[in-house]
Amino acid sequence: MKVLCFGMGQAGGNVLDALIQYEKRTNADFLIDAVAYNTASADLRGLEHVPESNRILFGADEVSGHGVGADNELAAELAERDSRQLLRGTDGTPTSQADAFMIFAGLGGGTGSGAAPVLAKHLKRIYNQPVYGVGILPAADEGGLYSRNAARSLKTFVDVTDHVFAFDNGAWSQSGEDVAQAHDSMNETLVRRLGILLASGEVSDSGTVAESVVDSSEIINTLRGGGISTIGYAASELPTDADDSSGFSIKGLLGKKSSSVDELDSINRITTQTRKAVLGRLTLPCDVDSAARGLVIVSGPPEWLNRKAIERSRTWVEEQTQSMEVRGGDYPVPASNHIGVLVLLGDVARSDRIKEIQSTAIDAQRNGESTHEATEQVVDERLDTLF
Ligand code: GDP
Repeated sequence: MKVLCFGMGQAGGNVLDALIQYEKRTNADFLIDAVAYNTASADLRGLEHVPESNRILFGADEVSGHGVGADNELAAELAERDSRQLLRGTDGTPTSQADAFMIFAGLGGGTGSGAAPVLAKHLKRIYNQPVYGVGILPAADEGGLYSRNAARSLKTFVDVTDHVFAFDNGAWSQSGEDVAQAHDSMNETLVRRLGILLASGEVSDSGTVAESVVDSSEIINTLRGGGISTIGYAASELPTDADDSSGFSIKGLLGKKSSSVDELDSINRITTQTRKAVLGRLTLPCDVDSAARGLVIVSGPPEWLNRKAIERSRTWVEEQTQSMEVRGGDYPVPASNHIGVLVLLGDVARSDRIKEIQSTAIDAQRNGESTHEATEQVVDERLDTLF
């Protein structure tokens, strides 16, 4: 699936940077273009892979490139005022080639939290393609203000986009870890999953096309109807001939894969990785049986992509989600030495993490943690959207 991607704020820019790097590293081809936005010029300068000409500073008249702190309402206001400048990010890009737009943002901070939904609203107004959000949720120890920003921004983001992919920093952080390093490894986790999703179905350099292709319409249909989704992924390393105890093999010494694939081994690996993907750590922890739709993508060397196993995995995900709408397909990667299974669960209805963020947000609201007077208007039991 070809996408035009936007990174809003620091986290948004970092994830975008990591996605560009992932695309280059894997020789994939799913990015039409990538644009980063911020109210803080230092954060834009810190990016490594987004081209300089695609870094847009906004709100400079008001905050002089110093950022908005954690004031997401100010960020939303500045984005609205500078909306023409934001939309200049698509100037000169072949937008018609994009199957979808994707906006990345940390929802707990200021710029991404406030401005990402504004950008989404304006893109929806102009273009026909779906606009997806990728929302990063703060860990519980980041405090009430971040939770409140995230809860309100998420609600707004879900309203104005066609779907939001959620990534929960809380589920992926480890105690005692250096924050910058932790963010790098979380970004790597997130872009590997998004990268596989987007690259599947695209013709790679090797010219290999999947037997049962996951094309962009499968992804769009899985996300149709809106809501929040989560992604699981698990992979198993494949044996080389060197692992074969039956004897000496030059191929094995060279680290090449065995050309003869045992069907049973292939089925076992694919079905096991499917269970691990769903029952292991998801980008957003949630009740799997509350997902409305699903998509299973099995990647690896073509000779390992057993159709029976993919169908069995798809049926298993159907049983787990109790959804009759689970799609499945393969993504051949001839040079890979792994079998990987990605499971996208769309329109998840129950997540304890989101409930927790919302109740922390309401407590923070009651305790008056605020960066902006207008936030006091947020109602008691229900969170207001940002606009
Ligand atoms: P903004 O620049 O004002 O939009 O604020 P940030 O993007 O820094 O948003 C703050 C939230 O994003 C917090 O929850 C941070 O933990 C998180 N965050 C910041 N940078 C990263 C990153 O590179 N990766 C991840 N996963 N989270 C980040």
